[in-house]
Order: sequence, then structure tokens, then C-alpha cells
Amino acid sequence: MSTCGGKNLLILLMTALLSFGFASGATHVVAKSETFYSISRKYGVPVSNLMAYNKVSDPRTLKLGQKIKIPSKSSAVKVTPLRARKVTPKAMRIIIDPGHGGKDRGALWGGVAEADLNLRVARKVEAILKARGYGVTMTRRSDVFLSLSKRAEIANRYRNVVFVSIHFNAAKYTSVRGAETFYTGEKGRYLASAIQRELIRKLKVKNRGVRFSRFAVLRQTVCPAVLVECGFISNSYERARCKTPGYQDLTAKAIVSGIERYDRAF
Ligand SMILES: [Zn+2]
Repeated sequence: MSTCGGKNLLILLMTALLSFGFASGATHVVAKSETFYSISRKYGVPVSNLMAYNKVSDPRTLKLGQKIKIPSKSSAVKVTPLRARKVTPKAMRIIIDPGHGGKDRGALWGGVAEADLNLRVARKVEAILKARGYGVTMTRRSDVFLSLSKRAEIANRYRNVVFVSIHFNAAKYTSVRGAETFYTGEKGRYLASAIQRELIRKLKVKNRGVRFSRFAVLRQTVCPAVLVECGFISNSYERARCKTPGYQDLTAKAIVSGIERYDRAF
């Protein structure tokens, strides 16, 4: 669904490949009436490249007898369009809620604070969602404390939203592991199932299933709301995985895939 269906946003990702310094170029001594332009033509090197290579900003400063370094052609500046991707703005907004923060560190195991992990994964989720055209509201974007009712209140400011709270788990028995997702409401159950399925598929972790919950942050939220427990940091194996950026990326991708699956269904 989209409020402005045909109005596509064209994002051109351009990259400038600068490879100065690798060339074993020659030296040219400036003769009478020569300019940067004539020298660049003589050696078949773009004038901008020639100037940059010699750290010259004004081509008129060239003097008779001046030594000019000539870059090899391989060091030419290339501006390559990497990809042109169409992104359709989505109608649904996603409230991303990194659990805990500030004085509330969440679970603490083996030097890992849940609050930090939650924020890292949440920021990755935010970036991917925005790239896919979703509006995203973060309940927190830094290490600050927020009450549960404040988080719900932020979500309740919007229409056509879903609320996704991101957490990592801990248990007294350190052998306990796996991912689980909590929900309230029928739509919340669908969203939780979609996210849970993607987590299991992408992370290959133990499936602890989806569960109905009366967690305050879910109960006080009007929109479909879920709370994702991405893994147990009380389990040494999962803690080691959860700490790596690669695993955090994969977790974020799984959460986004689940949200997209939900969005397509409603
Ligand atoms: Zn938590």
C-alpha cells in the first residue's frame, strides 16, 4: 500500500573511485605557452586528475619550467554509478524500540549489556527499513533511559504503525538458548509469527516460539505490538554470536523481512 504510488524515489548511488598515488607516472617540465589543458591532452589524462595529482586548485598558477607529475592512466578518476534503485515510499510506519538504556542496562552477562546490543540491532533495523522506503520512529537513538509508558506513548502518537521492541534474553540456567517473540492482539500475533519465522530461518537458532504477553510496553501500545528476544546472552555460545556485527546484521535483516511479510499481508 502506498499513499503516493506512482511517485517513486530514484536513488542514484554514486561512488568516486580515487586511486591517486599508485601510479609510477613521469615528470613533465612545463614549456612556453603550455597549460594544464594542453599537458592533459598530451598525456591523455583528465585535467581534473592532473591538477589533483599535483595538488593544484587553480590551473592559471602554472609556471614556465615547473615540474608536473603525470599520473598513469590507471589512476584516472572514475565516477561509476553503482546501481539505480527505485524505492516506493511505504504507507506503514515502524516504531523501533531498543529495550532498556541509560541506568537500565537490561541483562548483564560476561561483560555484555543487553541495552547496548538492543540499540545496535535496532539501529541496523532502522537503516534497512529506511532504505526500503519505510518511515521509522526510534523510541531512543542513544544510551538513554526511557520509561515503558513513554515508549508506548511515542508509538501512540501515530496511525498506521506497528511497534517492534528489540531485546536480548537471559536466564538463570545458562544452557537455555534460542529466540522468541511476544505479542498482543491478532495482528500482533501475525507480526510476531512473521518475525519469528525469519529469525529461525536466517539465524538457525532454537525456536522458542511466539507467545501472548501482557508486558507493559505491549499492553499500553494501541497499534500491533511485538517484543523480540533475539537470543540469550546468559548462554556463552549465543553471547559470543550476538556480540558480532555479522550476527547483528543478520538479526536486523530477519526482523525487517518479518515486518515486510506482515506489510504485504495487511
Ligand atoms: Zn530486555
